[in-house]
Amino acid sequence: FKGFAMKKIGETGWVEKEVPKCGPMDAIIKPTCVSPCTSDIHTVWEGAIGERTDMILGHEAVGEVVEVGSLVTKFSPGDKVIVPAITPDWDDEAAQRGFPSQTTEPLGGWKFSNFKDGVFGERFHVNMADGNLAHLPEGLSDEGACMLVDMWSTGMMGSENADIPLGGTVLVIGIGAVGLSAIAGAKLLGASKIFAAGTRPISVKVAKEYGATDIINYKEGTIDEQVRDLTNGEGVDSVIIAGGNLENTWKEAISSAKAGGTVSNVNYLSGADNVFIPRVEWGCGMSNINIKNGLCPGGAVRMERLAALALVGRQDPELLVTHKFRGLEKIEDALYLMKEKPKDLIKPVVLLDLD
Ligand code: NAD
Ligand code: ZN
Repeated sequence: FKGFAMKKIGETGWVEKEVPKCGPMDAIIKPTCVSPCTSDIHTVWEGAIGERTDMILGHEAVGEVVEVGSLVTKFSPGDKVIVPAITPDWDDEAAQRGFPSQTTEPLGGWKFSNFKDGVFGERFHVNMADGNLAHLPEGLSDEGACMLVDMWSTGMMGSENADIPLGGTVLVIGIGAVGLSAIAGAKLLGASKIFAAGTRPISVKVAKEYGATDIINYKEGTIDEQVRDLTNGEGVDSVIIAGGNLENTWKEAISSAKAGGTVSNVNYLSGADNVFIPRVEWGCGMSNINIKNGLCPGGAVRMERLAALALVGRQDPELLVTHKFRGLEKIEDALYLMKEKPKDLIKPVVLLDLD
C-alpha cells in the first residue's frame, strides 16, 4: 500500500509498504479522516526524535476496521473507530503505575510516526485493539472525532495537570489547536478568568468561543507583565504552556504564576538543549510553584469520555478544523500547510474514501 513518509530528517515523500501483520490482539485500520500535527513538523524538520528512515507519518486518525486478531472481542471488520494518537501497552509496568503514555520507555505509548508507521497510508496497524480503539458514536463526524485523538486529549490533559481550583485563574500560552483545547478544558474544570496569549485572528475567535475571557498579545510586551496588569499584580493559579520558545516562555510562565500555583507544560520542546527556569521568580526554588508535564493520554476510555463531552455539546471539536482536503495524495498538501501555518489555519483534515 501507499503512504506519505519521512524519508529522513528534513525530507518527505511517498513510499510503498506491505500491509503489517495483525497479531492476535491487534487490528488493521483503513483511515477515513487524518490530520497532521505540529509534532510531525518537529519530527521531520527539527529531527526532534532523531533520525527515522521511510517512516510513514501521522498519528491523528479516524477509520474503519479491516481486520482483527483472534483475541479481539469488541471490534469487527466494518466498524467505524476513533484511534487515539497514543496506544499504550496496557500490560506494561508504567501503565500499572498510572502512566500508560510512558509504557516500555519514555514516550513509549506514542507509536504511530515515532516507533512504527503512522496513519498517513492506506492501512495502519493498532496494538491492543480492545484497549486502544473506541467505537465512533452516532452524532460525531469523522473530522470532529479526529480532533479528539491528540488535540483535545493533549490540551485537556494540560488543564487537568494544571490543578485549576474551582473559580481559579488560568493563563494559556500559545493558542494553536492544543492551547485552544486547553482553554476548553480549563473552562470545563471550573476556571473563572482564562487569559489566552496568542495573536492569530482565527485562534483568538475560537479561544473566545472555547472560554477565554481575556486575550494577551505576546508581541506587545512580556506575557507575565500583561498578566500582572490584568490581575492587580497577583498572577494566576495555573499556567498551561502550549506554544512559545525556550528563551522566553518558561520565564513568562513561572513569572505569571502565584506562589503555590502550577505550570503545566504540553509543548514539545525543541530547538535548544536546556530549559531556562528563572531562579528569583521561582522563589529561589521555594515558591511552591509546581511544574508538571505529560504526553497525550490515549486508550479507549479516554476517547469515549472526550467523545461524550462533544456529544452532549459541552464544546465543539469541529471549531478547530479550518481546512478540509479530500483524497490520499492531499495528505502532502495538508502537512506542508501545517508547516507553513498561514494565519487562517488551526487544523487541516484530509477525508479519505479508500478501497
Ligand atoms: P501551534 O504551532 O498551532 O500553536 C502554537 C502557538 O504558539 C502558535 O499559534 C504560535 O504562534 C504561538 N507562539 C509562538 N511563539 C509564542 C510566544 N513567544 N508566546 C506565545 N505563543 C507563541 O501548535 P499546536 O498544534 O497547537 O501544538 C502546540 C505544541 O504542542 C507543539 O509543540 C506540539 O508539538 C505539541 N504537542 C504535544 C503533545 C503532547 O502529547 N504533549 C501532543 C500534541 C502536540
Ligand atoms: Zn501530535
